[in-house]
Amino acid sequence: MTSTHAQHGAGLPPPRVEEVSDGVFAYLQPDGSWGLNNTGFIVGGDAVLAVDACFTERRTRALLDALRAQAGARPVTTLVNTHHHGDHTFGNYLFLPQATIIGHERCREAIIAEGLSAQRAFPGVDWGRIDIAPPGVTFSDRLRLRVDDVELQLIFVGPAHTTNDIVAWLPQRRLLFAGDVVFHGGAPFALAGSIGGWLEALDVLRALGAETIVPGHGAVCGPAVLDDLGEYLRLVLDAARRGLAAEAPPLEVARSLDLGRFAGWLDGERLAANLHRAYSELRGEPRGTPLSRQAVADMVACNGGRPLRCLA
Ligand SMILES: [Zn+2]
Repeated sequence: MTSTHAQHGAGLPPPRVEEVSDGVFAYLQPDGSWGLNNTGFIVGGDAVLAVDACFTERRTRALLDALRAQAGARPVTTLVNTHHHGDHTFGNYLFLPQATIIGHERCREAIIAEGLSAQRAFPGVDWGRIDIAPPGVTFSDRLRLRVDDVELQLIFVGPAHTTNDIVAWLPQRRLLFAGDVVFHGGAPFALAGSIGGWLEALDVLRALGAETIVPGHGAVCGPAVLDDLGEYLRLVLDAARRGLAAEAPPLEVARSLDLGRFAGWLDGERLAANLHRAYSELRGEPRGTPLSRQAVADMVACNGGRPLRCLA
């Protein structure tokens, strides 16, 4: 491995902490592209609840440093995983043994089944040490947590981005930690989830009435992002319908599709995987059905044949 810190995140602003509500913090990693996820934490009187870890050891340790700068010596006693992807869970082990890790039951299963396999898609990343540490507490639909008098509702909204997406909703603060059900400024990525399910999830999120949304990737935003995501996903679904009728492979559709105002979103090659997902659903396969390797190969093809760019 020849990677250096200078290469990783070179030219990008450093991660930053934003207090999005009293005692509630978003930890943002620009520019939100592959592997550069957002996390968050809520500082209570005696303890801290965190939402998600980071992709690499170095990035998760930087998150913990930023957290301690706000929370002092208070221990992180709870870590919520919004879904199983490594950029949100590879750093879980650094929260042990103090924290109880909570996630959807399928999140636990997927973390155990996939292990470190995501590393293969991102050659050149300086991973450091990663120990797989899945949630020990799981649930299937909803779970209510509290940090002092601040209530968090964990709501299962998958399959959307993955089979196991949950969001953390703080009703008193009109604040939503959306995990990767919301990308802001980057293309949504439905390889492991469902286009139809994602559109339904957006309806659920709209009904919550959030004023502030901490997306899984990208800057903190308001609810208008939900309409943008819905429009993009419907565009993908419509293109897949036409492509399927014309017996055109997803890669061909991806190369010819005009994304209009979404053409500038980061990681645009995800379109190829999203089309594979839409094809699968339109063929009647169950949501979240594992897709063939071709979906990833087609993303690489859409990226000019280069590996996916990951600056984590
Ligand atoms: Zn994800």
